[in-house]
Amino acid sequence: MDDYYELLGIDRRAGHAELRRAFRRLALEWHPDRAGAGATATFRNIHAAYTVLADPISRAAYDRRQGAADTVARGRAPSVMLSRLSGPIAGLLACGVVRRTGNDIIELLVNADEAATGGMVTIAMRVPVRCPACVGKGMAACDRCGGKRVLDE
Ligand SMILES: [Zn+2]
Repeated sequence: MDDYYELLGIDRRAGHAELRRAFRRLALEWHPDRAGAGATATFRNIHAAYTVLADPISRAAYDRRQGAADTVARGRAPSVMLSRLSGPIAGLLACGVVRRTGNDIIELLVNADEAATGGMVTIAMRVPVRCPACVGKGMAACDRCGGKRVLDE
């Protein structure tokens, strides 16, 4: 896979303005109207890279995937699932392996081995999300959320 940051010629820490400047410059340079039909593939790649990196959520996911790939490339152990710390939140809280220290903060109580190797956990929990049926539409009555504008999912 192409490195999107390399493709756009920007640093991994580049902010949105820098990203947009780089994209505009390259899009002008590689636009098929200007650079010819041979530039179509490059133009598409540049556009794909920009689309992913311009969205904070997809950029974070991309960075995580790249980070995992870098770890493997350096010959270190790939991230392992820590099953002891994974599962539905209620069960993990009951076992005392995680604890909530705030509304949005979950602490994982790792042991020395887990701390040394690192790893990944997946925790299932219900979280409030904006109702996709009526967000931004100003609907007084909404069947999905009953007008509360948020859903637990
Ligand atoms: Zn709604």
